[in-house]
Amino acid sequence: MQALEIFEEFSLYLKEMKSKGKKVIAFISHDNIPEELIDAAGFIPLRLIFAGNDELMDASHDYLPPSTCAFAQTCIGLFALKPRQFDFLDLIDYFIVSNHCVSDICASEVICKYFNIPRLNFYISYIRNSNSEKYFRLEILEFRKKLEEIKNSVISDEAIIESIKKYNEFRKFLETLNNLTIQGSLKLKLMQKAFLFGPKIIPELKDFINSNNNLRAQSSNSKDLLLTGCSIFMNDILIDLIKEGGGNIIFFDSWIGSNYYSQQFDNSAFENTQKPIDLLASRYINNIYGDHCVPNFLENKIAQIEQIYRKYKEKTGKRLGVINHIIKFCDHMSLMSSFFKNKLQEKGIQVLNIERDYSRANRGQLSTRIEAYLEMGDSE
Ligand code: SF4
Repeated sequence: MQALEIFEEFSLYLKEMKSKGKKVIAFISHDNIPEELIDAAGFIPLRLIFAGNDELMDASHDYLPPSTCAFAQTCIGLFALKPRQFDFLDLIDYFIVSNHCVSDICASEVICKYFNIPRLNFYISYIRNSNSEKYFRLEILEFRKKLEEIKNSVISDEAIIESIKKYNEFRKFLETLNNLTIQGSLKLKLMQKAFLFGPKIIPELKDFINSNNNLRAQSSNSKDLLLTGCSIFMNDILIDLIKEGGGNIIFFDSWIGSNYYSQQFDNSAFENTQKPIDLLASRYINNIYGDHCVPNFLENKIAQIEQIYRKYKEKTGKRLGVINHIIKFCDHMSLMSSFFKNKLQEKGIQVLNIERDYSRANRGQLSTRIEAYLEMGDSE
């Protein structure tokens, strides 16, 4: 299914939800936003997961300099460019200003201020320790209070626990989807759609998984890859360039991928914990692969990729390629990219760091770099 069809379907869904009085709460898609609270309030969480193009990036330059990351530029461009590319953005009632990174804060503030969308704040500490866990709990309480004011009634603990269970099941399906042996481009399209619709899409995920569970990847000649770094967002040509070059992403390790679905609870967590705030706080503190917090994020990430690589080699006898996708001016990914690449290459894992923005002019250069990387041999 093309992204355009998904947008049309999503637009109809949101209009239907709005006609039932539901509020739409949008945010820039990264990590740690407690979407279960939004769901428990009866509202719709809307992640901005849309890749850019020249027009969308240019439209943001009245608000922030072009040295802002290309994804944050795009998020602003979605609101600034007229006529608006996706009409469902007109349905947003509130926008969360969070601090995954500086570009995220700036873009979210610009969207609220210049496009007249009421803001909700959700601050997340950059250090993961017992004090930041206490702080996270306070932010959760404050966020819940704000949602209750909007809803004009209390959000019960039971409703939040039910939402946490629902999203937990959703994450499990996404993990199964990521593990299917199908073309990465197909997998990504459904994963992106799932991020837009949320757990409502579970029946579709179930059907898809049941009918593709025993399939093998279509082309045995393709070079299998792990994608890490920034997500490939909807409408991005990068996934097509990788496919055209002979690559097949078998593992998505990014915000749209394992970083999200790996943050699951065992069923025992629900038996042992009655308070939703304890569950949400434990998820935050156990999020050791998230790129928002120090210490040890990078070391954990490198160890995780090495483990996936070794398992893959044991199973297939082949080397798994690693593409580290860096959206231009993304400080989170670009600052550590040389260290990340060197560390993995010291372990015999070949890494391609791709830093790019969304301009069309980059297409040829991107293809050349991807093809050159994919032509490297499989045997050590
Ligand atoms: S700088 Fe990186 S982490 Fe921040 S908004 Fe851009 S892509 Fe996301």
